Amino acid sequence: THQLEIRNLHASVEGQPILKGINLVVPRGELHAIMGPNGNGKSTLAKVIVGDPEYTVTEGEILVDGQNILEMEPDERARLGVFLAFQYPVEIPGVTIANFLRLAMQARKAEGEEVGFAEFYGKLQSALKTLEWDESIVERYLNAGFSGGEKKRNEILQMLMLEPNYIIMDETDSGLDVDALKIVAGGVNSMRGENLGGLIITHYQRLLDYIVPDKVHIILDGKVVQTGGPELAKKMDTQGYDWVKELATA
Ligand code: ADP
Ligand code: MG
Ligand code: MG
Repeated sequence: THQLEIRNLHASVEGQPILKGINLVVPRGELHAIMGPNGNGKSTLAKVIVGDPEYTVTEGEILVDGQNILEMEPDERARLGVFLAFQYPVEIPGVTIANFLRLAMQARKAEGEEVGFAEFYGKLQSALKTLEWDESIVERYLNAGFSGGEKKRNEILQMLMLEPNYIIMDETDSGLDVDALKIVAGGVNSMRGENLGGLIITHYQRLLDYIVPDKVHIILDGKVVQTGGPELAKKMDTQGYDWVKELATA
């Protein structure tokens, strides 16, 4: 079965429980939105899925295409095609975007298999076109001096180059103006299809006007408290999160 499945996931940081029994199934071919008030575990969920060592899983499982990934290192998870676009992208001094993309693509290959120049360059050309980005950008150092919009666009560039099976996008919309948002969403939408599954984590509905999710889940206090269609995101936008909190305490 080609799906990302999260079963009764509990995780803590510094001994403090943050995730308290998350259950989710995202089949390949579907993008699900994760929404919820700040501080309720959305980013923690993203980081646990990619294997951030700061977080301890205390119970439950994460299955990627039926394989439990919890014992895997982050790079092994990446090789299974799990890709995280992060809320605060890192700067890596001295590494150009081109180098980085080449290394990241190589890391996804089986041992002994090379990323050919033609493959690399062809993909790069088409990705840059989708993102309306000039080729000179790839000679710049990764994220150094990038504006918020450039960082986000660079994340989508990585995604287009790596062709992940599952994407986890954490607040990719934060700090983007409408034009940048449309370009980022266009990049994601260009990848949609039966091979791609993913979680789009966002506090606001705005991004979901451009990337229409197949399902929407609301996370409150480390649990999924509500699941619905795109209309649920709209409700969040007009009514805020108070009704969810009432629902959860009822
Ligand atoms: P969200 O993304 O929904 O805003 P987070 O997952 O970032 O929420 O945070 C959930 C809770 O876990 C918050 O109370 C936050 O302070 C805490 N937390 C998350 N990461 C860490 C960390 N590395 N160290 C200490 N506390 C953390
Ligand atoms: Mg937050
Ligand atoms: Mg967050």
